[in-house]
Amino acid sequence: MTGIEINSSAIAERFMRYVQIDTQSDPKSDTHPSTEKQKNLSLLLAKELKEMGIKDAEMDEFGYVYATIPSNSEKKNIPIICFCSHVDTAPDCSGTDVKPILHKNYDGEDITLPDDTSQVLSPVVHPYLRNHIGDDIITASGKTLLGADDKSGVAAIMQAADFMMKNRSLKHGDIKILFTPDEEVGHGTAKLDMQKLGASFGYTLDGGEAGSLEDETFSADSATIIIHGVSTHPGYALNKLVNALKVAAEILHTLPTNEWAPEATEKKEGFVHPVRLEGIAEKATIEFIVRDFDTDKLKKYEERLKSIAEDAVSHYLGASMEFIVTEQYRNMKQVLDNYPQVAANAAIAINLAGLDVKTESIRGGTDGSKLSYMGLPCPNIFTGMQGIHSKLEWIGVKDMTKSAETIVHLSMIWEEKS
Ligand SMILES: [Zn+2]
Repeated sequence: MTGIEINSSAIAERFMRYVQIDTQSDPKSDTHPSTEKQKNLSLLLAKELKEMGIKDAEMDEFGYVYATIPSNSEKKNIPIICFCSHVDTAPDCSGTDVKPILHKNYDGEDITLPDDTSQVLSPVVHPYLRNHIGDDIITASGKTLLGADDKSGVAAIMQAADFMMKNRSLKHGDIKILFTPDEEVGHGTAKLDMQKLGASFGYTLDGGEAGSLEDETFSADSATIIIHGVSTHPGYALNKLVNALKVAAEILHTLPTNEWAPEATEKKEGFVHPVRLEGIAEKATIEFIVRDFDTDKLKKYEERLKSIAEDAVSHYLGASMEFIVTEQYRNMKQVLDNYPQVAANAAIAINLAGLDVKTESIRGGTDGSKLSYMGLPCPNIFTGMQGIHSKLEWIGVKDMTKSAETIVHLSMIWEEKS
């Protein structure tokens, strides 16, 4: 028996309040935050943290919330750890007028969402629903996403903070709380003040199934191929014109389809993926993303891609190409391997919350990968969110509660081990 029990109706109520605040971010905006409305939630969070007695809680001009739960331990050498979630929701699906619905004591049947009856949440498609039979789950109403990504993380951190402030006999060091805007549009760390944050290690609360702990992400580059053709008047082009669009088409046609592509890979396999093609007869550009867990493999993939492209270009006398590689982000595991206690302590905390640990690799990036390379080694912990970025997004209240309990345990473990 662990003694840490978070009130599940309180966290459900808190979560349902937060998701009703529209915080959708905007990839086309160049302001920070990308949408002013994200500050509506951030301001509320800063206010609620203050009401808990966390004196330094504040939101800055860019919409970041910083707060410190002060140490209550006599030990002076406890590493300062940070718990982080993002307040924004994905641009892929409306976040306006979210109406969360609490389904008490879920019976295992299909759930038809009332505001759009074509939206049916079924355990056949979402088998993880079966883990929640007899428990409470929360969905949206059919017209919007729910926003469990990542307001479940926000709610878990807030509920854990409230618990720690009310139970001062539970020993911990300085605990930093960080809420960021714009994670969904790739700018979650753009205006983050690491100095001000002042933490040594961090955890994002932005993961799925209960017990999951993600300490590995892709390493990522982009590659751009620019093809130069030879342009002439098409009426007098015999043996002169070289059409860059046709060269581009040949390059794309030559790419393998049964391997080395997102639609043909899973688990630890990497890929090369064309994401954009544009051009005219004279000049065409193809943009690719290049992904693998092993950073060294990116270079091999880029060389292979380049040689496929050069071969295609060589079939067209007079055509030429440029090949440009840009680094995007790197696998956080390369950093985390130097600080094995960060993931190890999280695994202990998950166990203490009564769950088995599922160590997973993210086939993508997280703010944690950026934070890890900014000097804050930062794996990702579950909140329970499911069906994210869609109208069928849902979450089990039990999972969110366990996520908050994991945060409290983790805070105490760092104190105990110091
Ligand atoms: Zn997220």
